[in-house]
Amino acid sequence: FKLTLSLSLSLSLQAKMSRPVQARRLEGIDKNIWVEFVKLAATYSKVNLGQGFPDFPAPDFLTEALTRALGGGNHMLHQYTRAFGHPPLVKVLAQFFEKLLGRDLDPMTNVMVTVGAYQALFCCFQALVDEGDEVIIIEPFFDCYEPMVKMAGGTPVFVPLRPNPPGDGKLMSSADWKLDPAELASKFSEKTKAIVLNSPNNPLGKVFSRGELGLIAELCVKHDVLCISDEVYEWLVYDGKQHIRIASLQGMWDRTVIVGSAGKTFSATGWKVGWVVGPDRLLQHLRTVHQNSVYHCATIAQEAVAQGFQRELTLYGKPESYFVQLPKELQRKRDWLIQSLNAVGMKPIVPEGTYFLVADISPFKSDVPDVHNSEEPYDYRFAKWMVKNKGLAAIPLSAFYSEAHKNNYTNFIRFCFAKEDATLKAANDILQKWKQEKTSS
Ligand code: PMP
Repeated sequence: FKLTLSLSLSLSLQAKMSRPVQARRLEGIDKNIWVEFVKLAATYSKVNLGQGFPDFPAPDFLTEALTRALGGGNHMLHQYTRAFGHPPLVKVLAQFFEKLLGRDLDPMTNVMVTVGAYQALFCCFQALVDEGDEVIIIEPFFDCYEPMVKMAGGTPVFVPLRPNPPGDGKLMSSADWKLDPAELASKFSEKTKAIVLNSPNNPLGKVFSRGELGLIAELCVKHDVLCISDEVYEWLVYDGKQHIRIASLQGMWDRTVIVGSAGKTFSATGWKVGWVVGPDRLLQHLRTVHQNSVYHCATIAQEAVAQGFQRELTLYGKPESYFVQLPKELQRKRDWLIQSLNAVGMKPIVPEGTYFLVADISPFKSDVPDVHNSEEPYDYRFAKWMVKNKGLAAIPLSAFYSEAHKNNYTNFIRFCFAKEDATLKAANDILQKWKQEKTSS
């Protein structure tokens, strides 16, 4: 009897354990580029130009605001605040975006604070995408869009930016990567619920022109499609280019959610303060997701970001404004990295915005032989080889493409130039030495 009992017990235990533990919505999305490459960079890199974060300090006015909030005697800043955003932050964000969009905004219904832009995106997909809905994603894209659409039960539909080399010996620019209007139009159907727009675009640095945005807007209006507009790099635009907000185009306010990030805006990615701005008819559903998942992000960080925005509101457009100074400083760093990559023959694509730069590794291909029929895209192998052998970390571009299109873009890697001059100099030294070794061998 004892034996049968223990046998049946162990059988029932086994039966329980053989049940799949993973929810179906996670199928096929469990691989993640950042886990592998962040670990590789931590293990091998001497210079890390991989993941997108500044290695220089956040501005003093921001860290001072945090210190004030901590020690200023308002102990309530250590407690819960309003779920949809700390009142001082939503108020100042509304004031700021009223200026940018030229329309009145209600801080309580047109703005919501999130745990970084990541959670803002998650709220968008969970709140607006249903089983069977299609969501158009422009390639190359910030990699989390695809799994987030899938987790919501939607189907991502990809449309690539197509490179047109300038052909006159000039360096390629991110502006040379364009949507084919007919191809884009062909992706819209009655199943399309939303399009994700990311301008300025990570990883290319493309800043979409008014004409390109107009085309997207026209298609959204025609097919009654929503636009999730990821604008986390809105202040990082170079060479006098202008960031145009698609929500300000005819017919777009009512169908657009703007996503932003204090991490990118104030060079404080670890704070994880983000926001969405949009019409109440959309935001009310994002609030439901937010309320029932994270509730809100750290009160004290929201208080300090509110003060940062207050400062920027007073200094708007003035030379002392951080939103004027940061792009100036980053443009200098961009130009420096362009020059050092170009000097060694790793052809940079000049980004119009963001703090990323994509470079063509074809001239360095001889260092890392191609493996015929390899499962792994060439740029992955190259980036891994580079960090292990040269100590320089970057991210393969094909990580920003869907599985079906990855293999068309395996000759590029992405660098982040939001780095101290000393870091960029160290990267330059590695590249120079590498080039010398190549010419002398
Ligand atoms: N969108 C884009 C395009 C990004 O590059 C990033 C960060 N790399 C995010 C959203 C996420 O921003 P946050 O750190 O504020 O969550």
